[in-house]
Parts: sequence; C-alpha cells; structure tokens
Amino acid sequence: MKGVTVTHSSYSSRMDPLRNYIGGAWTPSSGTSLLDVHNPARGTVIGRTPMSTAADVDAAVNAAAAAFPAWSETPPVVRARAMFRFKALLDEHAEAIARKVTEEHGKTLSESRGSVLRAIECVEVACGAPSMLMGYGLENISSGVDCQVMRQPIGVTAAIAPFNFPAMVPLWFLPFAVVCGNTFVLKPSEQVPLSQQMIFDLLDKCDLPPGVVNLVHGGREVSEAICDHPGIRAVSFVGSTPVAKAVYERGTRAGKRVQALGGAKNFVIVMPDADLDLAMPIISESFYGCAGERCLAGSVLLPVGKAHGEVRERLVASAKALRVGDGMEDGIDMGPVISAPHRERVRGYVEQGVREGATLLVDGRETRVPGDGFFIGPSVFDGVRPDMAIGREEIFGPVATVAPVKDLVEAFKLMYAHPNANATSIFTSSGKAAREFAHRATASMVGVNIGVAAPMAYFPFGGARDSFFGDLKVHGRDAFEFYTDKKVTISRWF
Ligand code: NAD
Repeated sequence: MKGVTVTHSSYSSRMDPLRNYIGGAWTPSSGTSLLDVHNPARGTVIGRTPMSTAADVDAAVNAAAAAFPAWSETPPVVRARAMFRFKALLDEHAEAIARKVTEEHGKTLSESRGSVLRAIECVEVACGAPSMLMGYGLENISSGVDCQVMRQPIGVTAAIAPFNFPAMVPLWFLPFAVVCGNTFVLKPSEQVPLSQQMIFDLLDKCDLPPGVVNLVHGGREVSEAICDHPGIRAVSFVGSTPVAKAVYERGTRAGKRVQALGGAKNFVIVMPDADLDLAMPIISESFYGCAGERCLAGSVLLPVGKAHGEVRERLVASAKALRVGDGMEDGIDMGPVISAPHRERVRGYVEQGVREGATLLVDGRETRVPGDGFFIGPSVFDGVRPDMAIGREEIFGPVATVAPVKDLVEAFKLMYAHPNANATSIFTSSGKAAREFAHRATASMVGVNIGVAAPMAYFPFGGARDSFFGDLKVHGRDAFEFYTDKKVTISRWF
C-alpha cells in the first residue's frame, strides 16, 4: 500500500466532467448538464460537476444492494481492517487533500489541514467497530430462558453533504456506515466535489468489494432520488435548515431512518468577568474562521453589562487586523467565500443591516483583494436587534453582529426566542455562570471559554430545534446506533 499515488483516475483532465464511482468503477454520469467548480480565491474554473439523475442514483443503489449481503456477513474485524487501510492512505495523502480543499473551497490551508485531520479522526473511531458493535444479554430472564441483543447492519445507506467542509462532512458518515456492515452512497456538494474525488480514489485502493462505497455527483435531483429510493434504508443530510427539513420529511415519508443537520445562528456571550486577553482572539476566530462559513461559527455576540465597550473595541481591532487573501498563501488569516452569488448574499446582509439601523463599525465590502476571487472582508455591526435580518438569519459569512444585553437572563431570552439551536458559547471566569449557561442553553453544542464547540469524532455532533431533524446525532456512539438495528433473541432449550 505504501507508495500508492493518487492518480485521479476519476477524471483525465481538469476540464473533463467528473465521473461517478459506482460498483467499484468510475462511471460517466447520465446527466446532460454540468456545473463549473471554481477556485474561489481566483475565480477560475477548476473542474466540472455533472448534474447526475435519478437513473444514476438507481445504478448506485443497485450496486450497493448487490454488495450488501456479502459485506454485512464479513466479520467486523475484517471490515475494520479496510478502514485501517483507508486511514493509512488518508494520512499519506492528507496534505494533498487539504490543498484540494483550499483550492475548491477557499479556506486557509491551516483550516483545511485541521478539517482533514478531523476527517481522519472519524475513520480512526470507526476502526473501533468490533468493540462498539458488541451487543448485550442476560441469562435467566425466566427460568432457563436467555435474552441476547445483537447489532445488525441495516442495508444501503446514503449521505448528502454541504459545501463548507468538503472532505470532512462526508467522512462523518462513510466510515461508520461501512464498518457497521452497511453499503453506502454519497452525494457531495456540487460546489466542492474535488476532494471527495481524491478520497474515493483512495477508497478504490482499500480492497473494499465493489459496490460497498459509491459516489454520485449532482444537486437537488440526486438528493430527492436518494430520499425517494425504496432501496435506501437510511439518509444523513447536512446543509441549510429549509433543505434539512425537506429532506427529513421526504425521507421519513418514504420510510427511512433520517438524520438531518440544518443551519445555525450561534450566540456567544461575554460576561463582564471574562479574561478578554485570552477570550478575544478565540472569539474573533469563531466569527471569522473559515470566512464565517461554519455551522458552529459565532454569529451574534452578546456582551453582558459593562463588557460591551471593550469587547466591541477589541473585536473591531481584530477584524481590521485580519489579512484577507488566497488561503494557499502564507500569512493569510481569512480566505474568500465560496462563490460570487454567495458574496452578493453576504453583501446584501451588510446593506440590510445598515438600512435597518444597526451601526456598521467595520465594513467588509471595502476590503479589496487583487484578482477575480470572491472576497469580502470581515464586518462588525453594533446595536443589533433580533428583529433585524442580520440579528435573526444565518448569514454564513464574515459578519459579526454585536447585541449588548444587561444580564445573562436577557441573553437567555434572545437565545430562547431563536428557532435555531446548534452551538453557543460563554466566556466567563465564573463557574456558577458557566454551569448555569451550559445547563439552560437551548443549543446542544456548548462552549465554556471555547469559541467553536465542535465535538470530536468520539462524541455526538448535532444541534437542536431547527438545527437538527432526527433522533440520533452524528459520529460517536450515536453513529453505531444510527447504522445498526438491534435484534433481540429470546431462547430456551428443551
Ligand atoms: P444547502 O442546504 O444549500 O445544500 C446542502 C446539500 O443539499 C447539497 O448537497 C445540495 O446539493 C443539496 N440540496 C440543495 N438544495 C436542495 C433541495 N432543494 N433539495 C434537496 N437537496 C438539496 O447547504 P450548503 O449551502 O451547501 O451548506 C451551508 C449550510 O449547511 C449552512 O446553513 C450551514 O449552517 C449548514 N451546515 C450545518 C452543519 C451542522 O452540523 N448543522 C454542518 C455544516 C453545514
């Protein structure tokens, strides 16, 4: 395995349409339309995504269904061994994948490296399947009668991914699904398909039987075909709230197990007793890291009482100090946003914030980066209220909105009134305030003096309210629950 090179067997030249990976072979899509993939830092076209059809999904599901009987009977330790091979190949090619993530998404190379490491950690946790899949039992539930619980794989599973973590989010699902004995169909985001193409080139070298993992490129038609296909037993979705809700409703209506992670509006509270020297760099990173395109990004900053003035001044200073540019270059703190239309959307929010009466302290629209990249600099608004669009809606860009509150009770009121509840953070040196906050927060990912409360691969990841539709969350023990059914056998021998 050592010395395997990533050949991109999936496409011979950068401008050829990408191919799907179905039944162990790179297969042309039946879709007739193509979407340009851009390098957002340069505005150049770096690939073309085929908009596949329901027929391609059907072919992938057929391949996955054909592979399921033998794969589900393969000993868990042998399945885990394939994931160990995958992990070794990911380690070997981590830098190349990270560079591809920066090229297709725009985030800085250090951010991409971090996300690839997070992806690899999912594979590492999945490698523990032989222990995690163990059942349990009890002798003599009645005289001479024993009861045993065994976990069994469920069948063909699928995942639909967003644009913001091109390498990582698909690996929240694939390794867990596969190691549990299921087969798998992935639809990456049509905006960032290239790093998954590389990852599937590596999977191709892991000695997985054909059909165990499949890749179908495309957009809404592919997602909807996944929701509707009778051969798919479980669907995982990550993306915006309206689509998460639609996918959850459509998939469950078709009788599937569905987990759908949606959008966010994350509140970050700064108490007057917070150590601002330590807290402010972390807070700035929370709002502006990955150009704000993170479901765990800080969005509304709530300084409590007398914290307001200094928090505002320091945030303004750190926003102004950020170096914006091509994330591939050294010394860059923030890359572009994903596309020209998304940049227009973020600009639109800044304009609306001004119109609705918030005070614009730093205007990211004024940031100029030479070339044709999709850049917008960091913005800071003060005096933001929940009835303003910038205080209510997910912007998914580098815009910090400051909404001063008089106490923690007022902060809770704002949080409770918001339909999203993905992540939230408090900065304080009071254990009592932190404990109260963690206990009463609506969001299910809570940071105490942590700006991006991202659970690691061995903990559950996912929000609440309109940020999550389903029951079982992503990775950690929940993944082994999501990807298995529990069979109970009660036996008596005469
Ligand atoms: P999106 O909802 O536009 O797209 C997500 C996926 O759904 C893509 O693969 C896309 O092709 C597909 N899709 C788009 N429209 C569809 C439709 N009408 N029906 C079926 N499928 C459709 O999201 P995005 O812009 O790619 O990603 C950004 C969003 O993802 C943000 O809202 C962000 O908060 C969210 N997100 C959430 C989490 C989380 O853990 N909760 C993690 C990452 C991203």
